[in-house]
Amino acid sequence: MSASMSSLKINQHSLTRMDKQHINYFTALLGAEYVLASSHEGFEEFASDQTEDLKFNPSLVLIPANTSEVSEIMRYCNIHLLPVTVRGAGTGLAGGALATHGGIVLSMQRFNKILEIDVQNLQVTTEPGVITQVLQDAVKEKGLFYPPDPASKGSCFIGGNVSHNSGGPKAVKYGVVRDYVLNLELVLPNGEIIITGANTLKNSTGYNLTQLVVGSEGTLGVITKIVLKLIHHPQFNLLMLAPFASAEKACEAVSAVFRAGLIPSGLEFMERNAMLWSARYLDVMPFEIKEGEEAFLLIELDGNDLEAITRDVEKAAEVLCQFEAGDILLADTETQKESIWKVRRSINPAIRSFSYKKELDIVVPRANLPQVLYSVRQVGEKYGFETVSYGHAGDGNLHVNIVRGNHSDDFWKNQIPTAVGEMFEKVIQLGGLLSGEHGIGYVQKPYMELMFPEIQLELMRKIKAVFDPNNILNPGKIF
Ligand SMILES: Cc1cc2nc3c(=O)[nH]c(=O)nc-3n(C[C@H](O)[C@H](O)[C@H](O)COP(=O)(O)OP(=O)(O)OC[C@H]3O[C@@H](n4cnc5c(N)ncnc54)[C@H](O)[C@@H]3O)c2cc1C
Repeated sequence: MSASMSSLKINQHSLTRMDKQHINYFTALLGAEYVLASSHEGFEEFASDQTEDLKFNPSLVLIPANTSEVSEIMRYCNIHLLPVTVRGAGTGLAGGALATHGGIVLSMQRFNKILEIDVQNLQVTTEPGVITQVLQDAVKEKGLFYPPDPASKGSCFIGGNVSHNSGGPKAVKYGVVRDYVLNLELVLPNGEIIITGANTLKNSTGYNLTQLVVGSEGTLGVITKIVLKLIHHPQFNLLMLAPFASAEKACEAVSAVFRAGLIPSGLEFMERNAMLWSARYLDVMPFEIKEGEEAFLLIELDGNDLEAITRDVEKAAEVLCQFEAGDILLADTETQKESIWKVRRSINPAIRSFSYKKELDIVVPRANLPQVLYSVRQVGEKYGFETVSYGHAGDGNLHVNIVRGNHSDDFWKNQIPTAVGEMFEKVIQLGGLLSGEHGIGYVQKPYMELMFPEIQLELMRKIKAVFDPNNILNPGKIF
């Protein structure tokens, strides 16, 4: 079954308006307060996420409070062929939470409780609508650590993180969300409720449905409960900021740091303009950016032995100097560290606040970072647009922002997709992928055919069809 065939099953009528009969049913189930039609205050915010300037109005927003309400909504929508798009906090950068086919947006915002912190087993059971930072702070109070830390951690939901298999600066040492998910409660598109595995550290018992759902971008089921593995919080960390006159040299230094036997708990790359725009946006610059400094590496090292970390910092500095790093700033107070991380975390909203942009989330084997940076810049020069790049360089993951600036609608609509295709082709030639952590969602799906042969796309479509034969759940995403 192809995606386009299955999407025909969606009730076309529901794309533009919702029948009174459906609204009455949902109102009886959830209460009027939790059924939002377009006339409701706050409805607007469900039409967009953080992806470019895209906007898709749903017909209705439903805000359930528990698993049985989600189950009943899905059962009903499956019978009536109403499209449903699950929404976390709406911070996604691939348009995954956009109701591109209209219908219902299912907001998980009331699933906001941490259910249990199991100190015996080093696990936490949580609802999906908990803000990532809130979860991190809650387990930290017990001396425990949940490392995945997307730069949006102050606003995104843990359920969105699981659906995207999100990363963040700490992924380079501690891994991505997938490495911490042990078990899920999932409502299938027909309303049935399953537990995908068990709260165990290992699983060789049949196909691993838990890990299939992680990163499936809300296309296979609605996640209503999550069990995560925790570790102990490292006691100390030190942060270095190294400037480079050449961005390519900065990228070359990244793999050299690991070859020297170091495993930083963060290794971020930032082009000069990324830093300058962020500082302008925050209206503060906690360090000086000198003339001729073209790029920066931000390196964090952590552990429980401060002397060992200090030795690692010295070793890292030696490596960076081999690649012509300038004066390295060592941040050792918490305030200084936080202010530098704040500049890094604010790059995305900073660029967005100054110009429309398209953000790519490419990932290549780490040592190919210099070539991929060169290639995307070449494409930008060829087409005449500015790119601002930054990202989780230690993972080979680069966020390339194509800045719209004064380019016309015509240029943006017709030239950019071709240019993006050329960039992706280079990435694939360099052994990389279209997305390292943001997902495919709506905006990158036209490029999936560059990445995978038809046989692989067909396998993925068939998996989707097994879970969701009527294609009602997040239709039009991934492929
Ligand atoms: C400033 C900024 C910085 C960012 N930095 C990072 C970063 O460092 N690393 C990174 O990986 N990402 C980053 N992101 C992207 C984004 O924050 C993540 O993708 C995040 O995981 C999305 O979570 P959300 O709750 O906002 O999900 P949403 O955007 O609401 O949804 C994302 C996807 O998950 C699905 N979904 C959500 N909840 C559920 C559920 N309960 N069940 C099933 N499907 C569900 C949706 O259908 C959608 O497909 C950043 C975004 C911004 C704006």
